[in-house]
Amino acid sequence: MSLLSKKKNIDMPPDIPVQIRKGVLDEIFLQVQKHHEEQPGRETGGALIGIHNADVIEIMGFLPPGPMAVHRPGYFKEDREYQQRMLRAYQQNISENLSYLGDWHLHPFWLNQPSLGDYHTDRLALKETYGSAVDGLLIYPIVFKHHWWNADLSGKYVSNDNKWGIQFYYLTSDHPHRQFDPKIVSGECLILNVCNVDREIALLKVCSENLQISVEKKDKKYATLILTHPNWQVDLKISFPPEYPFLPPSVLVQKRGSFHEQKYDSEIIQNWSDKFNLTNFLYEFENS
Ligand SMILES: [Zn+2]
Repeated sequence: MSLLSKKKNIDMPPDIPVQIRKGVLDEIFLQVQKHHEEQPGRETGGALIGIHNADVIEIMGFLPPGPMAVHRPGYFKEDREYQQRMLRAYQQNISENLSYLGDWHLHPFWLNQPSLGDYHTDRLALKETYGSAVDGLLIYPIVFKHHWWNADLSGKYVSNDNKWGIQFYYLTSDHPHRQFDPKIVSGECLILNVCNVDREIALLKVCSENLQISVEKKDKKYATLILTHPNWQVDLKISFPPEYPFLPPSVLVQKRGSFHEQKYDSEIIQNWSDKFNLTNFLYEFENS
């Protein structure tokens, strides 16, 4: 490679066109703002998923960091085991063609490019994904707090509400991160809904006689069940996070005749497995 072509590499786009769905950008900004309100100053991120074929890479969604992820100021490590299980569930329920495309992560301050630490981590992920194949490519967007001195962005990928910015990089085996602009296409962010509320209700009814179940709220992503039983002193309010059964249900108890709700924790909830369903929880609850 001549010096001249090396210079040109600075802003060289990937050999293959990269697209991202508008819905994915919106969802990333939404998650970042939510994370910022709960854990300000700490990093977070997600694994990008979508289609990678001979003609195009399309980023269609991302996997949450997972329950064992580490979020610190200046450091983020995702729960890869959880993300791998999630990816398999997406492949089985949505499309076999979905694959891992890279990772986005948040710099809670102004740094809009990968750090040296990021370079080493990303290089390792590239090697784990593609082995010694030379044409491997992974995508690494950095989300950051937009400041006036990031003027080169010209407001392109900045969320209007909260001034988060996003800058895209890609990594190949022969070169450090290179910045590029993906094409933004229309489309929603893929969200997996493997929680089958009707099945959960049917299983609960088989499991416990006289159990009354009412559904308070039910839509594509969320459902809340109210469980009442004549023998219990309390009523249970059970909600499913979007990642259920990969994350446990959240349970509130309410004493009869009281408006006060309290979070309920138990061994099953703490040691939750994606093989479980609500009958595991109910069995434990009735025997406690
Ligand atoms: Zn970083």
